[in-house]
Amino acid sequence: MRVYELAKILGKSNKDLMKVLEDLGVEVKTHMSSIDNDAAQLVEDALRPAKKGAKDAAKKPAITLDARATVKTAAEKIGVSSAEAVKALMTAGIMLPATGAADGKVLEVLAKAFDVEFDVIPAEPEAPESARKSPKKTAKHGKKEPAPPRHLTPRPPIVTIMGHVDHGKTTLLDTIRHTNVTAYEAGGITQHIGAYIVEHEKKRIVFLDTPGHEAFTAMRARGAGVTDIVILVVAADDGVMPQTREAIDHVKAAGVPIVVAVNKVDKPNAKPDKVRQQLADVGLVPEEWGGEVVMVDISAKSGNGIDRLLEMVLLVAEMQELTGDAAAPPQGVVIEAELDRGKGPVATVIVRQGTLKRGDVVLFGSTWGKIRALIDTTGKGVNDAGPSTPVEMLGLIDVPQPGEVFSVAASEREARDALSRSRERLAGAPARRASFEDLYSQMREGRLPQLTLLVKCDVQGSVEALCASLEKIATSEVGVSIVHRGVGRIAESDVMLASTSNAVIVGFNVRPDANAKRIAETDGVEIRLYNVIYDVIDDVKAAMEGLLKPNLREQRQGEVEIREVFKIPKAGKIAGCHVTQGLVRRSSRVSVVRAGIVIWDGHIATLRHFKDETREVKAGFDCGIALAGFQDFEQGDVLEAYEVIEEKRTL
Ligand code: GDP
Repeated sequence: MRVYELAKILGKSNKDLMKVLEDLGVEVKTHMSSIDNDAAQLVEDALRPAKKGAKDAAKKPAITLDARATVKTAAEKIGVSSAEAVKALMTAGIMLPATGAADGKVLEVLAKAFDVEFDVIPAEPEAPESARKSPKKTAKHGKKEPAPPRHLTPRPPIVTIMGHVDHGKTTLLDTIRHTNVTAYEAGGITQHIGAYIVEHEKKRIVFLDTPGHEAFTAMRARGAGVTDIVILVVAADDGVMPQTREAIDHVKAAGVPIVVAVNKVDKPNAKPDKVRQQLADVGLVPEEWGGEVVMVDISAKSGNGIDRLLEMVLLVAEMQELTGDAAAPPQGVVIEAELDRGKGPVATVIVRQGTLKRGDVVLFGSTWGKIRALIDTTGKGVNDAGPSTPVEMLGLIDVPQPGEVFSVAASEREARDALSRSRERLAGAPARRASFEDLYSQMREGRLPQLTLLVKCDVQGSVEALCASLEKIATSEVGVSIVHRGVGRIAESDVMLASTSNAVIVGFNVRPDANAKRIAETDGVEIRLYNVIYDVIDDVKAAMEGLLKPNLREQRQGEVEIREVFKIPKAGKIAGCHVTQGLVRRSSRVSVVRAGIVIWDGHIATLRHFKDETREVKAGFDCGIALAGFQDFEQGDVLEAYEVIEEKRTL
């Protein structure tokens, strides 16, 4: 029997039941874990008498401590040795001597470890230090939940669907919407506002309507992510594919839990177990194999398994204890926005805290507005929206970006002022992220240098070789973590992931596309391009010694498109080209780029303008180019012309 099933039978929450099991010494990982009959019986027995006497039995008198208490004094009051208390703290990851201050976190751990409750009374006036630190009159730290400081109430989880193309994301969204949206409008048309609310067993789930990890990471890069849980769709007839892996990396970097939907199990060639094996290989171990990831077989097409999928999403949500405070100052995140010809700027937002009201003045990072109307997921006008509620708002001055966070301002004037202040600030300081050069300063400050990388290569073999070499450095001199590795050009989503993870992008025989380049510049993400694996390793090492050589920077000169390929007897192949940007010189080095991948890099053998050899051809003109030692170019390939210049390091 699964823990959650037993919880249902006993009418307990999963969390409470997990606690009971823990107290009984039954080891379970999650509420999805199975327990045998004996254990189930044990729980039932334990709970029955508890009904009568539990309240009194559990109510041990709280131990009173003053705010200056140390671990030692706390241990004395509990009735254990200082060593035992220190050990309990160490087990919980807190390194503290017995003379260390017993603050909130420490008391929480001790309370849990020794099954007691503390009452902290304010320190005497002669200890202003600690008194200032805990301004509250009395703080309770106990194994029972501390009294909530605010009016926190559970809120529905917000879910994004991700996965490889054609694995069934859209179909799953559609099927869920059609079978589970209760407030389905009379005409059968729900308005599209970028999110919808589903009800399952009287509990709500909010689905974001933009599947895919690009939108997910873009939102995170601009401000805050809203997603609480990701459903990763993997087709059982296709298995783990590049975008599956990419999605996993993006979600992991965000620290969001994943529920896997193994889709298309209705197909005759479906191999759901093989999918589980592949997922386990990339670090998502199915819960039924002793791992932590819930996986559900479904058919998005027929609807089979979807109820169970929703049930699992709710279970995972329950474990996360998602709460919202309807009375807090309202704030939220934009999930979609556009300029509507009739309505003006329209933004769909999800309220995260507080209650947003019609007439509120809302302040975004890039704009503001006074809410003229709020429209819910069924297309109805509403007066307010609480935590986890998606609503469309009208009345903004301008269109904000997905991922922008908003708050509520006291007046229109305050909103305007705040906006102009933040614009000034932004204009002054461009963001600066991690770079290789940081390594040296980290070393000098006596820290273990940490290098976070995102690695893109032209072929899978290079990805493996490069990452293996980098991880080898990691053990000895520098902490290296690779947030994502993949094959292909450096794309916008890579730069965004690097930006949110504070990673340096290492490209091996690949190039960023135009969008990626632009965002990297504005976000200050360092992109380092290499042709030789050892150069990467050398650079990391040199960076640690503060000896990074002057950057040999490729100074771009121009871009040339191959429009035709001529075969000239004896001379070989000549590329008939058009210079589309900048210029190309006889002395230029060129990279031959096909679909974002560098397939060759080297020198020009001849450069001709009409019949004549020439030293330089500018944008807008045609030319003939022969490359020194390479003839496998094709029509449509792009030649990037550049020269190599030495750039002094600036620290
Ligand atoms: P997306 O690119 O991930 O959004 O994938 P789609 O939802 O567009 O689905 C791709 C194709 O797979 C479509 O032709 C769907 O009809 C089909 N498909 C999706 N789910 C299932 C399923 O559970 N069973 C079968 N047999 N086909 C499915």
